[in-house]
This record gives sequence, structure tokens and C-alpha cells, in this order.
Amino acid sequence: MPGPLSNSIREAFCQHYALNRNAAEAGRHVGITMNIYRFMSIPEVAERIKELEDEAAHNSGIDKDRVMQIWWQIANVDANEFSQNRIGSCRYCHGQDYEFQWKTPREFREQKRAAIEKFKLSQDLTHDDDVRIPSDAGGYGYRMTREPNPDCPECDGLGIQYQVFPDTTKLKSHAAFAYQGTEVTRQGVKVNFAGKTDALASIAKAIGMFNDQKPLDVSDSAQKFLETLMGSKAPLSK
Ligand SMILES: [Zn+2]
Repeated sequence: MPGPLSNSIREAFCQHYALNRNAAEAGRHVGITMNIYRFMSIPEVAERIKELEDEAAHNSGIDKDRVMQIWWQIANVDANEFSQNRIGSCRYCHGQDYEFQWKTPREFREQKRAAIEKFKLSQDLTHDDDVRIPSDAGGYGYRMTREPNPDCPECDGLGIQYQVFPDTTKLKSHAAFAYQGTEVTRQGVKVNFAGKTDALASIAKAIGMFNDQKPLDVSDSAQKFLETLMGSKAPLSK
């Protein structure tokens, strides 16, 4: 390992580059005028950069194997962990004789009272069993979360759609890696999460799957990990 370079400009460049990962900016910062990539290919500069990167990885407790595992977890996240479109029963699916089914007697009472008040205000109600006043002939116990009734004549067994957003504080670890926050927008709730396509693209790039570029170096444990995932020997360089 080269350790700090005796050439202070080279050392300053390596330090700056290892921190910010921007070669052009690091070059400007220390006043390098030659082609920056040629500068970076000077053996002691390249070695020193690698050394500083390894140190940073070690200090942060993260390495390429771990990053690869996180990508793989993100690539395998089931979108249902963040938002679900479910199908439940309609109000007539399980009602007595397929009449409107109420959730509870309280719900029925309140709706009936509201209807009576409305018609009384308009002095339009002649008797309390007016057909416009809700009836509880369909009974009680409606649950949207029940399965639709395939014989329901109102929804043809298709039920109704409803959306569920699971508690994001209880996401499993692999989904928690992908979770990027929830926004309340005018259109409703929007759950943001890292896309599996991007994660797969990152993995493919890292193992040099679709191009002739030199793949990233990976350790033996990452090689084994990928072989397990892919069921074959992955094209990794050592
Ligand atoms: Zn129905």
C-alpha cells in the first residue's frame, strides 16, 4: 500500500477524489492541467485512490458484497408491500335476497334519519314507509373485505376495488431498503420506492452482463452469492 503520497498535489487530488468521486472537480481543486484520466492512471495515484476507497468502505462498514445484496433485495421487492389494489364484496353481494346490506344498525339508523329529515324539510314525505326511505331488508354485517359473491346480480361477482397502503414502519427489511417515503398529493397518497428495474440494471452493470466493459472486481463471497442467485457461474472478474 502506498500510504500518503510524497507529492502533495497528487495526495490532495486523491483525497478530494475519494471524498467526492468527481475527477474533473478534484482536478480543478488542486490545479491539475493535464488530462485528468491520464493523471489518474499514474500508478501511484491509481493505487492511492484505491487505498482511500477501501479505507472509506471499511470505515463505513459497507463493501461491494453488501451493496450487491441490497440491490438484489430491492430487485426482489414485491410492490404489494407498498400498495395493494384489492377486490371486496359490494353492498349487495351478501345481503338478504341481494338487498343492500348495512354495516351496523347504527349506520342504518343514521342514514334513515337523514333521509327522513331531508324529505320532511322539502315537505315531500307523505308516509314513513316511502320507498325512498332506506330499508334494512338486506340485513347487517357488511364487510368490504369479504370476498365478492360470484352470484351477486348487482356486481356480477366482480365486487368493488379498494386500495390498501400498509404501515410503512412495519416493512420487512428488503422492502424497507426500497422504501423512499410517502407523499400526500392532490391525486391521493403516493408511495415512492426504488424500482426493481433500476436495481437489476445496476446488478447487470456490476457483473458486466450486457457489455464488453471490464466488470467490477468482486470478492469471492460476492462471486459465490451471485452464483447461488443465478444458478451458474457469473461472469465476474477477480
Ligand atoms: Zn356484489
